[in-house]
Amino acid sequence: MSRIFNFSAGPAMLPAEVLARAGDEMLDWRGTGMSVMEMSHRGKEFMGIAAEAEKDLRELLAIPSGYRVLFLQGGATLQFAQVPMNLLRGKGKADYVVTGEWSKKAVKEAKVYCDVGIAATSEDRNFTYAPKQWNVRKDAAYVHYCSNETIGGVEFHQTPKTEVPLVADASSHFLSRPVDVSRFGLIYAGAQKNAGPAGLTFVIVREDLIGKTEKGTPTVMDYKLQADADSMLNTPASYSMYIAGLVFKWLKQLGGLAAVEKINIEKAKLLYDYLDQSQFFHNPVAKEDRSRMNIPFTLKDAKLDEPFLKGAVERGMVQLKGHRSVGGMRASIYNAMPIEGVRALVDYLREFEKKHG
Ligand SMILES: *Cc1c(COP(=O)(O)O)cnc(C)c1O
Repeated sequence: MSRIFNFSAGPAMLPAEVLARAGDEMLDWRGTGMSVMEMSHRGKEFMGIAAEAEKDLRELLAIPSGYRVLFLQGGATLQFAQVPMNLLRGKGKADYVVTGEWSKKAVKEAKVYCDVGIAATSEDRNFTYAPKQWNVRKDAAYVHYCSNETIGGVEFHQTPKTEVPLVADASSHFLSRPVDVSRFGLIYAGAQKNAGPAGLTFVIVREDLIGKTEKGTPTVMDYKLQADADSMLNTPASYSMYIAGLVFKWLKQLGGLAAVEKINIEKAKLLYDYLDQSQFFHNPVAKEDRSRMNIPFTLKDAKLDEPFLKGAVERGMVQLKGHRSVGGMRASIYNAMPIEGVRALVDYLREFEKKHG
């Protein structure tokens, strides 16, 4: 068996231990004679898997009582609409912080449902930093931000203080570090970046905010109805939930999110330290706002992009091409990327710079 280093932003690498365990359990989950994929979502086996996944997620993030945990579908993109549909609560306005491609998409979708105010934006410096001064309207239903911009590689390392409920699209750094959930009205994340397979979206929401949906909200998109039905109003993404559950167990075994954060800091530092001393590679993001998960960088000469990518593939490193909207390269180094993968990348950067620099 050979595993390559996959630097994709998502769907992304999953821990080899998790995949091996899923492989072992593929045909016969614990003596049931069936795969988790084949189980009734209402049967006691799957209900147990779902309950345990929620319990482990609550433990990892120390989610306080008073918050509901939902396992939904439709990706983070559906949340761009589902958040306003559920959280406007008749107020008709919500504020957004714009720090890159994903928050721009969230704004665009929210405009369908309400009056959107821009509380802050980093557009003035081409989305290369995380603005700390926000102008939030007192009567806004909530303020939304993207706590880690996957494409630009900009991360908020502190949770902003707000008077109205804070909503975070945490898709690409979910479970990469501890977070004080009590500071948020709602946190959502698509699983396929850092926590499991595609098809599953996590929503953690303060209970008192739900139950006042906009007229016309489809039943499966109503947080309150989903919460009351344990996210099983209809068939959930059962296999993805099972794999996410295995990822949660893996994270607990590593020592929980504080331990995971330490490893992530070390991995990111390896790569940024090299980029910063390099005369050839460049990362444009303000130092204090750099993402630990998604690290974009450019080569001195874009004509060398193709040879760079080709050489990377030859060395067992794939998916380093940057997003089409920013160009260059991007290394996504989520929890499941071993530090050896980052070392291999840095070695390759050094070798490439020596040859072409
Ligand atoms: C990937 C991503 C999305 C979109 O996720 P889908 O699951 O494809 O809808 C939204 N926000 C952020 C920050 C992302 O990284």
